[in-house]
Amino acid sequence: MINRKSRDEIKRMKHAGHIVALVHKAMKENIKAGMSTKDLDDIAMEVIHANKAVPTFLGYNGFPASICTSINENVVHGIPSKDVILKEGDIISVDVGATYGGMVGDSAWTYPVGKIAPEIENLLKFTEESLFAGISQMRAGNVLDDISSAVESVANREHLGIVRQYGGHGVGDKTLIKSGMVIAIEPMLNLGCDEVIQLPDEWTVQTADKKPSAHFEHTVLATDGEPELMTIIREEFL
Ligand code: MG
Repeated sequence: MINRKSRDEIKRMKHAGHIVALVHKAMKENIKAGMSTKDLDDIAMEVIHANKAVPTFLGYNGFPASICTSINENVVHGIPSKDVILKEGDIISVDVGATYGGMVGDSAWTYPVGKIAPEIENLLKFTEESLFAGISQMRAGNVLDDISSAVESVANREHLGIVRQYGGHGVGDKTLIKSGMVIAIEPMLNLGCDEVIQLPDEWTVQTADKKPSAHFEHTVLATDGEPELMTIIREEFL
């Protein structure tokens, strides 16, 4: 069951989403070869604290960091480490959650490290496209399955693998979307097969064929009109 949010809850959620977007801005500006994923976690923590929010993921089920950092064949839930160093040609998925006034914003983005191979560039481009295809279906009167179907149609068109276990609401979910509902839409598409495995660290999810994976996510509000992105930078909170 997805609760419909009050106006006040939505305002605080937008503020949380704004802080998440500030973290992503800092990621985009800072990511380069030679950094560790722990360096990224430190930057994220600094931005979240400077904005008087709490890192949502830290301590969640024992997760030891503020963000998830998943390189190349790692899909989601990678743990930042000083021993994981970004290299030219890598891709890095950064998933960020911030809690502000009791409300959560959650957004993920996959960043290139320097110059990446053309097929990986396409993986990023089409995963982002599938996110926005999904978002366009976040309308009162639609069902959650409309979102999954829109994501899936981009993946199928581009012959990309689609991770089903961690993508939130599955295909066939007939839950009706109502104005005031908020969900995170987060396609994870793979250059290879659909299948993923979990590593022995009990967090990191990896593609079964070790091919690269991308993850793009926004938290989205259904309104009486256009879907509204919650995880963007807003003037009113700067
Ligand atoms: Mg997330």
